[in-house]
Amino acid sequence: MNYCKVFLKPKKEESLLRFHPWVFSGAIHHIEGHPAEGESVEVYAPDGRFLGIGHYQIGSIAVRILSFTPQPVDAALWTKRIQTAYDLRQTLGLAGVPDNDTYRLVHGEGDNLPGLVIDMYAHTAVMQAHSAGMHIARHEIAEALKNVLGARLKNIYYKSEATLPYKANLGAEDGYLYGNEVEDIACENGLKFYVDWQKGQKTGFFVDQRENRALLERYAKGRSVLNMFCYTGGFSFYAMRGGAALVHSVDSSAKAIALTTKNVELNFPGDSRHEAYAEDAFKYLERMGNKYDLIILDPPAFAKHKDVLRNALQGYRKLNAIAFEKIKPGGILFTFSCSQVVSKENFRLAVFSAAAQSSRKIRILHQLTQPADHPVNIYHPEGEYLKGLVLYVE
Ligand code: SAH
Repeated sequence: MNYCKVFLKPKKEESLLRFHPWVFSGAIHHIEGHPAEGESVEVYAPDGRFLGIGHYQIGSIAVRILSFTPQPVDAALWTKRIQTAYDLRQTLGLAGVPDNDTYRLVHGEGDNLPGLVIDMYAHTAVMQAHSAGMHIARHEIAEALKNVLGARLKNIYYKSEATLPYKANLGAEDGYLYGNEVEDIACENGLKFYVDWQKGQKTGFFVDQRENRALLERYAKGRSVLNMFCYTGGFSFYAMRGGAALVHSVDSSAKAIALTTKNVELNFPGDSRHEAYAEDAFKYLERMGNKYDLIILDPPAFAKHKDVLRNALQGYRKLNAIAFEKIKPGGILFTFSCSQVVSKENFRLAVFSAAAQSSRKIRILHQLTQPADHPVNIYHPEGEYLKGLVLYVE
């Protein structure tokens, strides 16, 4: 196949020579040919050296590199990459084990598949394209998934309406590429939950908190737990298994609360330790009193773009300040930020200033991040997005 050729401006080849997988539109000198949105293109240095091949797109990131050596972007490439990703999840003890069938199979740049996310829930793959190129390749990728997973795979649900650049007018529609089962029960560390990939947020479940939930379980015994921003209740049922005295789950979304209640019931039928409230976080935190000695704050991304960073940091400070003010002496706070534009340092600073405001003695017990099935490509540090602190409040 003949690919269009993208030539870079002088010096703009440097980041690609260090294997960073993005070409920004401002780095392009000229293009030979007229690539369509999502078409694969070859990228060259000003001196004509081959740099990589990847998906072209109109926008700030103009090319997402799929390979730094010359090779066609075809079915064989998808199968090889997905096989490599699957092998890693087996090495991690997440795939093909009895008490866990929930994991991220493909984490974009972290699996050398920029623009593609695939989460596995039992025998369903939920696939999300963040680039036009991955959208166009979705059927080929679905075939590759079937090749790699074989009989373990029964459904592929494609969910990209909200993640694709709408200006590209790709006509993306959410729906099944394979199979058609609507609801599925998945299992994480031996705990069960319903996943609603059609109506739920993201791909249906926040897979990235698995290890942090397991850590929480270790601290839960005898404690009064508040799971703020609970979504489907993940942290709540780990706390219950860990022996919490009571667990209160709060989320502003009534649908999330309904799912949490259903999931708690699935794991702990009739257990009166759990209560769930559909309420705004700040309202609940103001009225809740000081009964909790284990609090989880896992808010949605406060900043999706750099220009709102300042407001986001204020948001984290305010949220954490209320928790420091109200948590019982000897309490433990699990606090998170999943905003990619908020750095580890900035998040820590926001939590530090909240701590200082409370004048309480506070120690850092753990510094948390995303789990290994959300790997960070060493050449693409932007892939690190989840940050968490576990704090002991005297
Ligand atoms: N901790 C969850 C994931 C949290 S996602 C887990 O382990 O799965 C963030 C959640 O915050 C979403 O469910 C969203 O509905 C909720 N949310 C957003 N704004 C909120 C607000 N102002 N008050 C309470 N919940 C809110």
